[in-house]
Amino acid sequence: MKVIVVGSSHGGYEAVRELLATHPDAEIQWYEKGDFVSFLSCGMQLYLEGVVKDVNNVRYATAEGMRAQGVHVFVQQEIASISPDKHEVHVKNLADGSERDESYDKLILSVGAVPVALPIPGNDLQNVYYMRGRDWAMKLKRATVEPTIKNVVVIGSGYIGIEAAEVFAKAGKNVTVVDILPRLLSVYLDKEFTSVLTDEMQANGIHAATGETVKEIVGKNGKVTKVVTDQAEYPAELVVEAVGVKPNTKWLADTLDLNSNGTIKTDDYQRTSQPDIFAVGDATKIKFAPTDKPAQIALATNGRRQGRYAVKNLTDAKNPTPAVSGSSALSVFDYHFASTGIKEGTADKFGVETQSVYVEDTYRPPFVPADQNPKVQFKLTFDPKDGRVLGAQIMSKADVTANMNVISLAIQQKLTVNDLAYADFFFQPGFDRPWNIINVAAQKAQRELD
Ligand code: FAD
Repeated sequence: MKVIVVGSSHGGYEAVRELLATHPDAEIQWYEKGDFVSFLSCGMQLYLEGVVKDVNNVRYATAEGMRAQGVHVFVQQEIASISPDKHEVHVKNLADGSERDESYDKLILSVGAVPVALPIPGNDLQNVYYMRGRDWAMKLKRATVEPTIKNVVVIGSGYIGIEAAEVFAKAGKNVTVVDILPRLLSVYLDKEFTSVLTDEMQANGIHAATGETVKEIVGKNGKVTKVVTDQAEYPAELVVEAVGVKPNTKWLADTLDLNSNGTIKTDDYQRTSQPDIFAVGDATKIKFAPTDKPAQIALATNGRRQGRYAVKNLTDAKNPTPAVSGSSALSVFDYHFASTGIKEGTADKFGVETQSVYVEDTYRPPFVPADQNPKVQFKLTFDPKDGRVLGAQIMSKADVTANMNVISLAIQQKLTVNDLAYADFFFQPGFDRPWNIINVAAQKAQRELD
């Protein structure tokens, strides 16, 4: 069997790994149109802040390493079109300009997404940057140490925008984050959490310009000088746009069925509308466990899961990809937060009725000195009709983020607050309270539902 995998990021890498593990006799061709295999944007902040020194280490695999395992790796080679009837792809070699056709028995697409560019005047000026991929990582790194860049405006306050803002604040720049929404990180956290984080960012030199719409990026001699919103103007020598991603699928519109947002339509087995063509990762939707409906949730975790399931279903569609809760975590200066599923702030978007309980507690028992016992904030969101767990958020200066994986599993397994109220979680004063904060919140929810 000859399998072609397109894209060398999370989804493509996982598909290749699973092929090596479960189809050792398959001929695997792995294509990447960029000049670098397997760059991980997830590791960008660590590189930009100098924790990881070499940009070339921010990856899962090298072409040489994968070739040593028998994979035929093609770098700077783009799959330009697909002929499903002939089971062929058309390959453009971007290094030498040559072109050829390759046949496949199975084709796995993990073609990903690219940052959305705002359709506003000035977007083409020098020093308008994006935060995705190795090339931008290197440009951003140079900008962190460029003395002429004093003011940075980040547009978009999702976790990528906030990562960028923190990088440049730590590099000593004046940072403004503009978002059309009324709160920073509002897709991830409700206001009990974002108000704390907004103060934390302010204390670290990041100004939040929320509820503002960017109208124009103004420049002089081709370079950015300021960002104009509907309410104010902000000086800027660098703009980082982080307003979302769009799937890399325009070239597939005549070949595969696409959703209205451009993602590739797949079934629960990662199969597309054409036989023997599978799609995974940011270029697809994934079933969202709280609603059991497909949603666009651009996370590496999802791409890797789907990559593995595409291979599990390559010859026999037996293993539906599990629904996901959409969990993510981030550190913002001294705080660590994680969230999963539906929040009060996103319930309307998903058309779901929700009820929530909010609790605060100390990380460890009260006798532990305050400097080692920070506050923990936790919010549990559930269905008011039956108490089914729909989502949660947690934040503290202690790293308590792993609690969110419990809630993610509870959502996947369709558990209720009753299941969580007296669930058996360990206690040890070095780590926890006798009642885990999940127990405390679920017990409160039970009382409210009674
Ligand atoms: P992509 O990563 O978009 O890669 C697609 C690849 O396919 C690219 O290399 C592209 O060049 C190649 N390609 C596309 N078309 C073709 C073609 N026709 N021929 C050949 N090659 C092609 N997720 C998390 O879960 N946790 C995190 O902490 C996290 N942090 C992030 C931080 C940042 C700054 C960013 C930008 C993203 C982060 N993500 C995180 C999201 C995660 O990076 C994406 O969900 C993930 O990269 C998606 O992987 P993918 O395989 O779908 O596609």
